[in-house]
Amino acid sequence: MNALSPAPRLPGTGAGGAGCTAAPVLRERGQREVFCGLTGIVWLHRKIQDAFFLVVGSRTCAHLIQSAAGVMIFAEPRFATAIIEERDLAGLADANEELDRVVARLLERRPDIRLLFLVGSCPSEVIKLDLSRAAQRLSRRIHPDVRVLNYSGSGIETTFTQGEDACLAALVPEMPAEPAGAAPSLLVVGALAEVVEDQMRRLFDAMGIARVHFLPPRRANELAPVGPNTLMLLAQPFLADTARALAGRGARRLPAPFPLGVEGTTMWLRAAAEAFGVDPTRFAAATAAGEARARGAVARHRERLAGRKIFFFPDSQLEVPLARFLSRELDMELAEVGSPYLHREHLAEELAMLPEGTALSEGQHLDRQLDRCRDARPDLVVCGLGLANPLEAEGMATKWSIELVFTPIQGYDQAGDLAALFSRPLLRRAKLEV
Ligand code: SF4
Repeated sequence: MNALSPAPRLPGTGAGGAGCTAAPVLRERGQREVFCGLTGIVWLHRKIQDAFFLVVGSRTCAHLIQSAAGVMIFAEPRFATAIIEERDLAGLADANEELDRVVARLLERRPDIRLLFLVGSCPSEVIKLDLSRAAQRLSRRIHPDVRVLNYSGSGIETTFTQGEDACLAALVPEMPAEPAGAAPSLLVVGALAEVVEDQMRRLFDAMGIARVHFLPPRRANELAPVGPNTLMLLAQPFLADTARALAGRGARRLPAPFPLGVEGTTMWLRAAAEAFGVDPTRFAAATAAGEARARGAVARHRERLAGRKIFFFPDSQLEVPLARFLSRELDMELAEVGSPYLHREHLAEELAMLPEGTALSEGQHLDRQLDRCRDARPDLVVCGLGLANPLEAEGMATKWSIELVFTPIQGYDQAGDLAALFSRPLLRRAKLEV
């Protein structure tokens, strides 16, 4: 244990007992208030620098992407929407021919594109446009210059962060096989801001873990090799399909909590260190400074957040790790932790660290959950954009969950920023009340 670490509170031990490992989960189905998987394009298009995301959808889809990402466009965006018009919907036009024409025009204008994602939507699903066949057809025509893949971001199939999962899962079959007898390598899975990725790489370097790859890569031709000597460390909790696809290629998952907050980051890094046989003294030396910095940055927010009650509506699947961070490092009280999908295996270490008796829910029945939220009278509600305004009007402070996905929050140097995302709405409300 690092000399700067607090008294250890490991999963399943200490005050929390076994935490919420075997806790009952309220499963709800009904009306839900969540973005669709197209939203993932907003952060993915900045991540893979020579990729392009072509949504095959309606004007609604185009508006969603444009308004979510519009403020971040500086030059030529790396996404667009091929609009399905009414005559396509009525089956009066050959949508495949039109799609081929749009793709040809796009690639002519943008010769820098190396990886093209055809992204399905509700309308493309409704007219049963087979985008996987379209991707194969286009790949045959234009490969090797441009690789064409497809995934679905439709609101019928995906919520919010599941778009990233679907995108990364589509990349897995494209990853080269690791050479026979390859030395073990570490694959960090999940889109991280480049600044965070660089910090992580420096920490792994300092520990002596040399072969480290990230999925997604920064460029299409930098896909990491994968095979039985690949150890994967999930950086995001919403990557069920991607992890399954990687396991199908032989990769093994390192069980760990997620790198949110001081404790989560240390345990996440330690999972890799132990798998690669890093000496504990070397691990402590590599992490001590970052951990101390992060601990100080988080502490500055404890006074405002300690003892305050927080309610999570299901949105990004980050809810359980965030709740763990807020309860253990900032002493917040958890009224309810809702998640669109609760992956017991990937969240095992997180659930073990939640306070016993935490109310957990999966899926959504909006009206019932709103009633529970009003009854709980939380100090802060984490929810989607659609719920935030009405809840603010009812006197509750809110935090948009989408901000937690757009903002770099993983790792030591972001732990203070992560705490600030929760303390700021309370500070603002306190100022307004004054
Ligand atoms: Fe709306 Fe479906 Fe398009 Fe998403 S994919 S913006 S839910 S129509």
